[in-house]
Amino acid sequence: MQLTVRDKATGERIGSVAVARRDDVARAVDRAAQAFPGWSQIPVVERTRRLFRYADALERYREELALSVSRENGKTLDDARAEVRRGIEAVEFACGMPSLMMGDALPDVARGIDSISLRYPLGVCAGITPFNFPAMIPLWMFPLAIAAGNTFVLKPSPQTPLTSEMLCEVARGCDFPAGVLNLVHGEAATVEALIDDPRVAAISFVGSSGVARAVQERALRAHKRVQALGGAKNYVIVMPDAANDATCSAVIGAAFGGAGQRCLAGSVLVAVGSAGDVLAPMLIDAAAKLRLGRGADSATEMGPVVSAEALARIRGYVERARAAGAEMLLGGGEIPNEGTFAAPIIFDRVDPESELARDEIFGPVLAIVRTESLDEAIAIANRSRYGNASSIFTRDGGAARAFASRIEVGMVGINVGIAAPMAFFPFGGVKESIFGDLRCHGKDAVAFYTQQRVVVSRWPS
Ligand code: NAD
Repeated sequence: MQLTVRDKATGERIGSVAVARRDDVARAVDRAAQAFPGWSQIPVVERTRRLFRYADALERYREELALSVSRENGKTLDDARAEVRRGIEAVEFACGMPSLMMGDALPDVARGIDSISLRYPLGVCAGITPFNFPAMIPLWMFPLAIAAGNTFVLKPSPQTPLTSEMLCEVARGCDFPAGVLNLVHGEAATVEALIDDPRVAAISFVGSSGVARAVQERALRAHKRVQALGGAKNYVIVMPDAANDATCSAVIGAAFGGAGQRCLAGSVLVAVGSAGDVLAPMLIDAAAKLRLGRGADSATEMGPVVSAEALARIRGYVERARAAGAEMLLGGGEIPNEGTFAAPIIFDRVDPESELARDEIFGPVLAIVRTESLDEAIAIANRSRYGNASSIFTRDGGAARAFASRIEVGMVGINVGIAAPMAFFPFGGVKESIFGDLRCHGKDAVAFYTQQRVVVSRWPS
């Protein structure tokens, strides 16, 4: 069976990939398992030499990669370029594996006894990725896993598989032995075949929370190492002292960038005191001016959403909210005829317990919730079942400090709308935004892709 891939702005067919059946998955894992003993024994400095080449090659192809991301995902070319840049940074981080994999040593832990800790690769690792970052999220996974001496099978989103094809194609010119990096396509059945294969030692997953939970449960039943990053609902708190143009533009970027299809999307603005009265008209004005269109057109500021199903889901939320009497300040507007476009929508005075303020809508819908105090704003955010990211906008250091220490998320922004950690810091949240303890990239990922071993030694004198 073939999966057809379309340009999300025009609906035009841009390619297709073959769905891997259970025996295709087994063959990919077989290749990875065969390659593991040889690859893991190549010294880490030689492994990372290939990754330096890979980072260089990705630089050369970065515009093609960005175009591929923009077409199959729909995001603007500038967004796609930024994503490819973040992905290359993850490869650059993986190039530091000789230092990252180093263990600890302590001589004379007892009389005549020394102790060292070492890190070894796990074996075959698998990665399952979502549609919203077709270049960056695969690059969070396989470069680090491979640099640590593992081999890898990647299963990208069926909605955006072509960029992964390019990432693997570029890797082919960088001297990785056959079987080190493998690609399979498909949906749930392909993922299940990967998790169930006894030769797969570890599963990295990024996607929605329901699937993340199911992937974690299935992997744990087979006693596998698993990190499964899930969905999000991110609250942006604005204090009255920060209700200004800069905050407005940061909130617009956080809410509508990538058409709201980011796990770091700031989709609820919790306006404290007078901040709502000042910001609401500014946000309406700015959102109404956003130009929708094909990501590759330089005038475009917001692309389409990923599919007709996504569009229907978003419309469902908007219609239910309106039927329940929610105050819609902005909605509709000019949308292109083709593709799956959703115009920016803003609701004000949203009930903080409504589905508009609690569910991950994953589209260009901003809910404004009004509160009287920072304490109340933090309490609203902390009642979310998700805990990916949250930001505060303020000029008050005390408020920022209280927020950073009390907000229950993994990524905190202070006067930054999208608090995206760079490749050397861990990326991930808490609560239903993650299933598993170790996050993606940073030292967490090094720990995830390696097995620690402690050696205690005594030598007769
Ligand atoms: P998704 O959960 O639908 O799909 C993610 C991956 O899982 C895809 O490769 C898909 O083929 C596979 N999959 C789908 N259903 C499956 C099933 N039943 N069993 C096994 N595998 C299955 O997510 P999506 O729509 O591609 O991406 C959007 C979601 O990803 C949002 O919820 C977003 O918040 C989340 N996300 C989270 C992060 C993070 O860092 N926490 C980053 C990016 C995206």
